[in-house]
Amino acid sequence: MKIYNTKTRRKEEFKPIHEGKVGIYVCGPTVYDYIHIGNARPMIVFDTLRRYFEHKGYEVNYVTNFTDVDDKIIKRSIEENVPASEVSEKYIAECKKDMEALNVRPATVHPQATKEIPEMIDMVKTLIDKDHAYEKNGTVYFKVRSFAPYGKLSHKNIDDLESGHRAEAHALKVTGEDEKEDSLDFVLWKPKKEGEPSWKSPWGEGRPGWHLECSCMSKKYVGDTLDIHAGGEDLIFPHHENEIAQSEAANDCEFANYWMHNAFLRINGDKMSKSLGNFFTVRDICQQYDPQVIRFFMLSAQYRTPLNFSQDLIEDASKGLDRILNGAEKLKEIADKKNGKFITDDEQKILEEEMPKFIERFDEAMDDDLNTADAISVIFELVRFTNANTDENSSSDYADCLYKILFELCDKVLGIHIERKAVEMDSDEVSEIEALIAERTAAKKEKNFAKADEIRAKLLDMGIILEDTREGVKWKRA
Ligand code: AMP
Ligand code: ZN
Repeated sequence: MKIYNTKTRRKEEFKPIHEGKVGIYVCGPTVYDYIHIGNARPMIVFDTLRRYFEHKGYEVNYVTNFTDVDDKIIKRSIEENVPASEVSEKYIAECKKDMEALNVRPATVHPQATKEIPEMIDMVKTLIDKDHAYEKNGTVYFKVRSFAPYGKLSHKNIDDLESGHRAEAHALKVTGEDEKEDSLDFVLWKPKKEGEPSWKSPWGEGRPGWHLECSCMSKKYVGDTLDIHAGGEDLIFPHHENEIAQSEAANDCEFANYWMHNAFLRINGDKMSKSLGNFFTVRDICQQYDPQVIRFFMLSAQYRTPLNFSQDLIEDASKGLDRILNGAEKLKEIADKKNGKFITDDEQKILEEEMPKFIERFDEAMDDDLNTADAISVIFELVRFTNANTDENSSSDYADCLYKILFELCDKVLGIHIERKAVEMDSDEVSEIEALIAERTAAKKEKNFAKADEIRAKLLDMGIILEDTREGVKWKRA
């Protein structure tokens, strides 16, 4: 598999540290509100990466954190007059519900920053001992110039950064960081302010800096060197650059072999973000659309391509997904009949010669830096092919094999359910539908076709589609 590595700016063949295993760390959300659909992009994309590795037979250790101590959480807790932990616990629970709706599987571990403080204090101590960090009045700073490769991920030059920062000297005074030895230095540990959550440390009570959290949680749950570190492209600088500086200075080894960054979800050409106020929460969108449509929409673009969000594009995604679901439904119906027919020679030929080609092309797309857009095109072709090569005379076993292939690629790897969720109906509604169907059948027997058509139209108005089959009348939701 080839992965585009932000560090080398090239697509590279993926080689795991340990044969057959892959360790992935993805920066998770800051939990102070419902997640927006921009946040859902890395969740869906990297969940798909994990699923694809599993499809290829890898054992995957997939770790993604919740940032549960942060200025925004504290601000919210002050506004609502509740402890910060109440805010973060609430939104972690809500985020997990959204993830489940989007069929994002729970990670191997979901660490929370506030539960890993001793490890963070240890890393700060190590950095001070190695002269990569220093303390000033309860704040500990990382000494950026002590880490020569600084800038290697974002391809930034340290001297350019320095001159940029000098212009911000005034801003530093405002934030109380003017005691830094160098304007490039960043905070590892900050002292407690009144009303903020804090922990005891050798530098007084305080809390960790955001970058430090990810360095410590990834070390603890994945290892000193990660196979893959991922997140949204906004995190390349300074977050991931600072993680590299901390981890490599502390651990004396490469922090991550491959860096993957998803492009942003945009809205009317602008980036979707909380600060710009132009965002939709996953919760809002799922009221209007099946969450599987959102997942399908996200994967319809390769993850490094900016993706614009609009009502029209979601409608298109919904129609596209319908074509796949209809194809899957047809296969399932034939398979479920269990008609006992033997697989014919022609069917066998399709299973042995045509199907492997689809699987191979799907894998080729995914092997090319997780090109889910091309993988979905292969799925469309597969569905077109199965539609054209199955009918009521097909053997159930053959249809079952086709269904299983579609299930593996679309449902298991891309995480897009191919079976429609059964719409719950109350028994009165079902009785009414069945009574109307019986009335229509009677009308047809009496050759009163006008009445039969009238009943069909009435059912359609109720959102029910009828299908006359040899086994009798079947109905489904439109
Ligand atoms: P945050 O809660 O802002 O730390 O973001 C959590 C994750 O969502 C990070 O990986 C961000 O890069 C990512 N993210 C935030 N906004 C967007 C967006 N509009 N499109 C894609 N990814 C985003
Ligand atoms: Zn992070």
